[in-house]
Amino acid sequence: MYTTEHHELLRSSVRDFAEKEIKPVARELDKKEQFSLALTRKIGEMGLLGMTVPEEFGGQGMDYLSYVIAVEELARVDGSQAATLAAHNSLGTGPLALFGSKEQKEKYLPSLCTGEALWAFGLTEPEAGSDSRGTKTTAQLENGEWTINGSKIFITNGATEITAGVTVQAVTGSNNGTKEYSTIIVEKGTPGFEASEMHGKLCWRASNTAQLYFDHCRVPEGNLLGKRGNGSKIMLQTLDSGRLSIAAMGLGLAQGAFEMALQYAKERKQFGKALTQFQAISFKLADMATKIELARNLLYKACWLKDNHKPFGKEAAMAKLYCSEIAKEVADDAVQIHGGYGLMEEYDIERFYRDQRILQIGEGTSEIQRIVISRHIGC
Ligand SMILES: Cc1cc2nc3c(=O)[nH]c(=O)nc-3n(C[C@H](O)[C@H](O)[C@H](O)COP(=O)(O)OP(=O)(O)OC[C@H]3O[C@@H](n4cnc5c(N)ncnc54)[C@H](O)[C@@H]3O)c2cc1C
Repeated sequence: MYTTEHHELLRSSVRDFAEKEIKPVARELDKKEQFSLALTRKIGEMGLLGMTVPEEFGGQGMDYLSYVIAVEELARVDGSQAATLAAHNSLGTGPLALFGSKEQKEKYLPSLCTGEALWAFGLTEPEAGSDSRGTKTTAQLENGEWTINGSKIFITNGATEITAGVTVQAVTGSNNGTKEYSTIIVEKGTPGFEASEMHGKLCWRASNTAQLYFDHCRVPEGNLLGKRGNGSKIMLQTLDSGRLSIAAMGLGLAQGAFEMALQYAKERKQFGKALTQFQAISFKLADMATKIELARNLLYKACWLKDNHKPFGKEAAMAKLYCSEIAKEVADDAVQIHGGYGLMEEYDIERFYRDQRILQIGEGTSEIQRIVISRHIGC
């Protein structure tokens, strides 16, 4: 209902790419906990890294639904590559494209649209997760330079070999006891800025997660992104859009898990029959298909609202909440249908079962989505 022929053509080319290029290596990369530069480059060559960036800055100038379909199709095969894509587009290039000055866009966006470079968004801190007002990282303006001190945690794409920089939220002052937040661009290689990889994740093991450290890190005053004091606004707008891509990851993961379960249930015989012949299993598959259909409609509607410049914050939170929650349920049912084999790493469903877990936590936990929705409905 919300997609055009153009969207469906895009879906089939991204699906083809994901099946041919990502699926064969996804399990091994997950096992080794290895970010793949080669795959990121290929995703860039496919034109997926700057999908919504205007063409004048090297992007594809596509609508948000196209981008969400691309994330969905990568997640149908592998959560890690979908995470690299989504974090780069929604959190990395998104704020630069939306709030950057012409000079900033011309400087950073072209290489971020090709796969030559990645960009990250550093909001979360050890003591500031759901509550970003707990941000302790500071940036002080003196003699035309910001001096940044503090640290960030769990930053996707923060420490790859091609990460060109990060947009950091920092406290830049206070007015009558109220903290002023701003967003500042920090390029890789700036003295005082270090990034280190975090390992040992349950999920998205082939995506890059980093801790960032700023120790008297000085950047030019012109690295301010957007207006001084607008950090919270930029962060909230970034997360509203970002939620749609996490929802797309939930939808794609659920779709992939469902397809695996259906295939397995058709092939696996017990008591002389295929598993699909048992109503307990066919009803489970029917419920999975129904949840996926609902999730897709909710998410695409939210994208339609965004693409048509209508308010979409409530629908984005609902889509993020619902798609990530059904990803958990569908992956769980898919494992159940696989029986003991579903717990073995040779079966992709084992990785999907782990990968779904972050979706109820990243970019606003399910509890935070419910807070957002309850505010929208007037609680
Ligand atoms: C793999 C991965 C990648 C990530 N990528 C990025 C990134 O690129 N950039 C970035 O900035 N961050 C990133 N994050 C951080 C992520 O957004 C945070 O983990 C998330 O926002 C939750 O924060 P927290 O982990 O500190 O949990 P907390 O905020 O400490 O929450 C703990 C629990 O308390 C609940 N809770 C908190 N407050 C309330 C409340 N008011 N009411 C009810 N319940 C509440 C939460 O829902 C949760 O269940 C990433 C995280 C992971 C794991």
